[in-house]
Formats: sequence, structure tokens, C-alpha cells
Amino acid sequence: MSREKLPENLWEQVLATLEIELDQSIVATWLNKTRLFETDENRLLIACQDAYATEIIKNRYSDLIQKTVYDLTGKKFRFSFRSQPESTETITKGPLFDQLPSQTTENSQQITAAVNLQTTPRNTNLNPNYTFDNFVVGNSNRVAHAAAMSVVENPGSVYNPLLIYGGTGVGKTHLLHAIGTDLQRKNQNWQITYLTSEKFLNDFIDHIRNTKKMSDFRTMYRSMDVLLMDDVQFLGGNKEGTQEEFYHTFNELHQAGRQIVLASDRDPEEIEGLASRLISRLRGGLMVNIGMPDYETRIAIIITKSAELGMTLDPQMVEFVADLTPDNIREIEGTLLKIKSLALAQDEPITLGLIRSALQDTRSTKRSPSRKITPETILNLVTQTFDTTIKDLCGRRRKKEIVIPRQMAMFLLRNEIGMNLEDIGRILGGRDHTTVMHGCEKISSEIDENHNNYLKSQLRIIRETLYS
Ligand code: ADP
Ligand code: MG
Repeated sequence: MSREKLPENLWEQVLATLEIELDQSIVATWLNKTRLFETDENRLLIACQDAYATEIIKNRYSDLIQKTVYDLTGKKFRFSFRSQPESTETITKGPLFDQLPSQTTENSQQITAAVNLQTTPRNTNLNPNYTFDNFVVGNSNRVAHAAAMSVVENPGSVYNPLLIYGGTGVGKTHLLHAIGTDLQRKNQNWQITYLTSEKFLNDFIDHIRNTKKMSDFRTMYRSMDVLLMDDVQFLGGNKEGTQEEFYHTFNELHQAGRQIVLASDRDPEEIEGLASRLISRLRGGLMVNIGMPDYETRIAIIITKSAELGMTLDPQMVEFVADLTPDNIREIEGTLLKIKSLALAQDEPITLGLIRSALQDTRSTKRSPSRKITPETILNLVTQTFDTTIKDLCGRRRKKEIVIPRQMAMFLLRNEIGMNLEDIGRILGGRDHTTVMHGCEKISSEIDENHNNYLKSQLRIIRETLYS
């Protein structure tokens, strides 16, 4: 491989080319703040303005960047992208450059940190157990995580407010605390406060009722450096006074360049009874969604959390738990705790059997009336997933393509809705209960003992549909 020098202004050339290929606004928003940070023979490391931008650039523009560099240099590089705000950089461009570009960096953050040591933080309500370190990143929360990291890197500037929204137990509160804790560590004299909107409301009412000084309330809320407000959906409804107060608090903090991070269980637009001017303020920064964790994320979470709990689960057990707890991360934690306490109570090692019995009631609680699962639902899902028909499931044919889905139907009717063997036999074309029992056992053993990946994934698909 040639060791030709790269042109010193390579990155400027790349950006200029991208500006032609891409919309100018894209280059201005995401790419103009990137720098070529480090090079070696095969790899270029690109510094991006923050974690969120890094994620966007990596996912959307890395192919194009690679192609552009190839066009300009005739060389195929591997690329890494890293969040590296300009003020903290140390330039380490490698030997491939003609000369180091002159650039001075002043590390103002260090100076601020030194000054910050003088005072101690006031009451922040931050929970030190929710950190970035123990936040597992997967597809469902990757963007929210990156946005949260960016806020820590550039508080009060780019993403203000940051609003994280999504269903329950997906990690919104965790991220709010992680942001707060990290910012507090970096800026020890900042007043960083975590609170729910309900607390804000109660405080507000308290100050009105008890004729405490309203000016105290305002001074307190409007002097924060970082406001982390959870569950803002609670501001909805007939709470005009509180909304009005919050609107002014928000504006004052925002105008002063203080960082605001909000979490909500839905898009503010969907919060009933929320004043439209408040909605537009909340939506005025960056909004990121956290979805329900997908299978891989659940696996990663189970591995991390079980290790934290000092439990040893083999991969098969991890998958088993992941299959059965599709809902949310809080529920996964609950399940693991249940398994652990059952093992302790019975003084037994953790086995698939033990996990299954620990999960028994978890599964029955999932069967809430709102998502009533009927035998028809199960049979229909089985026919769709295995591409067969109800007629075949209930018929007499004994070909493998039909026997397996039929046994899967037995297994699901038994395990997901607890039907008894006789009833299952009856709806599946009048079969004997021992046949049904054999069918259920067959599927269990294929999955638990023979690691039949095909059946596992079919089962997962069916369960995800049943419980989503
Ligand atoms: P939300 O506020 O969205 O309802 P929480 O932040 O309270 O959810 O999360 C519920 C539980 O799940 C918490 O114990 C939290 O630590 C944990 N949790 C959520 N997401 C993750 C994650 N990505 N990695 C590790 N733990 C998580
Ligand atoms: Mg929460």
C-alpha cells in the first residue's frame, strides 16, 4: 500500500464535495463542524461536534464520506467517528500529513472545573445509580442516548430543550439522572435539579395556599443551571396556572442559556389540555423517542442486569427470559429479581425450570383484559407464522410441515392462555390429551434442549405479536 501523503486540506475538499452532493442545510447542520482528527495508514478518525451528530453522521453519511474520500485520494479508508467538541481536542494527526495545521486550543473547561471546586452542590434529587455507564444502548434508545450525551458535552446550547419521550419503563428517567449526574460532576457549583412536573405543581400550589412567598418560588426555579423535568405529561389537564408558571420558568431559563431536559410518556402534542404555546416551547428543541427494547437490546439488558444482581445465567437462559419479557425494561428487572429470589428461597441453582416457574405469574399478569388473548388469536398467528391453515392444524395429515405448527399451537394454547389438555385436543380437531401433552413437550424440548433456532425464532415472533 502506498504511503503517499494526504493533501493537507483533504477534509475541506471532502466537505466542499459533499456540499455539492448533499443539501447545503445538511452540511451546515451536521458536517461543517466535523474535523479530520487522526489518520493512520488505513483509517481516518473524524471528530464530530457531539454524540448526537456523531450518530447521525455515522448512520446516514458514512458511505458517502467514504466514497468521496476514495474519489479524492484513490484509497479506501476505514472510518471512525467520534464525538469531540472543538474545545477539548488535542490534535494528533498522524505522519501522513504534510504538516500539522496550526491550531491553538484553549482548554477553558479545565479552568471552569477548577473554579467549580470551590462550592458544594445543593439538593439536586439526583439518583447516582442511574448513570451512562450502566445504561445499555440498543436500537430502541440509541438516538436518545446520543442526544443525552450531547447535552452533557454542550449544555445549554445545541439541544435546548431536549425532550425524551416514550412508553413506560424504557429508560427516560434513567437518562435524565445520568445527564444530571454527569453535568454535576463536571460543574460542581451548578444548581442542577431533577424533579417531576407533579412536584413542580405541588410546590406551586403550596406557595399559593400557604402564602409562602411566590417570589421565593420563582427565585428558586429560575436560578437553576440545569432543569431536568420528568413526566411533563402531568402538566396536562386543567392546570392553567401551573402551566403558565412553568411557561415563564421555562422561558427565563431558556433565555439565560440554561439547559432544560424533559421527559414525557408521549409527544407533547398528544398531551391533552396542554396550552399550545407551551407545546411549541417543549417541541422547540430536540425531541427524541425511546421505543420498546427490541430482542437484541433485551438480551444485552438481561446480561448486564443479571450480572449486576450477581446471577449466573447461561446464554440459553438469557434468551428464554428475553423471549418472555417483551414489554419494558422495568419488567425485565422485576423478572430477574423474581428468578433470583426464587432460587434463594428454594436454595436451588438457577435452571430453565426454575426460571419458568418464576415467570409463571409474570406471564399471567401480562394477560390483562386489555390484551385478551383468545385461542383464535393464537391459531391465526400460528397459521400466519408457519404459512399453514387452520384446516391443516385441525386435520389428520402427519407431514412434518403440519405437525410442527400443530404442536406449536398446542404449546402456545397451554402456556400462553393456560388451556387444559382436553380443551386443546378438542379445538385441534378432537385429539387425545396425551397427544397434546406430547406435542407441548416436544416443542419445549426442541427449544430448551435441542436449541432449535428456527422454532425459537418462530416462537419469538408469535410472542412479540401477542404481547405488543
Ligand atoms: P421510564 O422513565 O422510561 O419509565 P426508567 O428510566 O424508570 O423508565 O427505567 C426503568 C428501569 O429500567 C430503571 O431501573 C432503569 O434503570 C432501567 N433501564 C431502562 N433503560 C435501561 C437501559 N437502557 N439500560 C439499563 N437499564 C435501563
Ligand atoms: Mg420515568
